[in-house]
Amino acid sequence: MILRDFHLHTTYCDGKSTPLEVVLSAIEKGVKTLGITTHCYTPFHIYGNLSPSSVYEFANEINALKARFKDKIDIYCGIEEDYFGQTDLSKFDYVIGDVHYLSNGVDYYSVDHGQIDIRECVEKVFGGDAYKALEKYFEQMVAVVKRTNADIVGHFDVITKNNNGGAIFNEGDPRYVSAWKNAVDEILKFKPNIYFEVNTGGISRGYKNIPYPSKEIADYIKSKGGKLLLTSDSHHKDTLCYEFEKWAKEYEI
Ligand SMILES: [Zn+2]
Ligand SMILES: [Zn+2]
Repeated sequence: MILRDFHLHTTYCDGKSTPLEVVLSAIEKGVKTLGITTHCYTPFHIYGNLSPSSVYEFANEINALKARFKDKIDIYCGIEEDYFGQTDLSKFDYVIGDVHYLSNGVDYYSVDHGQIDIRECVEKVFGGDAYKALEKYFEQMVAVVKRTNADIVGHFDVITKNNNGGAIFNEGDPRYVSAWKNAVDEILKFKPNIYFEVNTGGISRGYKNIPYPSKEIADYIKSKGGKLLLTSDSHHKDTLCYEFEKWAKEYEI
């Protein structure tokens, strides 16, 4: 398989390897195309986000690497723009649009940081109704894709990260299923050639044993003519293209 990876993080945000280390590792692994990404700028500070000035420093460094290694690998500079992001997107070759937070307009709760954040958010913002939170999450997913004209939909069901064994909600519940189906339909109506990533980052970091999104969601996306793209969401140079062959087969990508 031709290796390419469009979602990873470096020391500019919460990754452990520098952009140069990531590029050298990619060349060694035989990766042909590498999209180096960063978390975005949000006006509130929660782990891993960048300041406006560090966003520009990041883009400048990636563009320098692009020129330096152009004979060995194709490098692109990407941004993982959150629903609440306020990044200047003009500096980037492509956009991954996704959702990391829910909010009541005052407090911001991470949907992928821990069960405590989500439980508190469900209680304080959604009156204890987890399905209302899920509906809002998918509404935001559609909205960020439309606002940014994203090229890739990021970790579409990352809100399941801390839901192993149905700890917070039932993934078979009709309200959950219709929320994600509506979001897929709306996104594909807006941009039929968009990619939905099949993101193995939750596996490499030990949170999940399947990618985002689930096979059921991925099959629905395909049945509606949507395209899938394997990404690693690596936070370390050694997990680039993590388990791509395995999940390419399982998800028939
Ligand atoms: Zn993310
Ligand atoms: Zn990411």
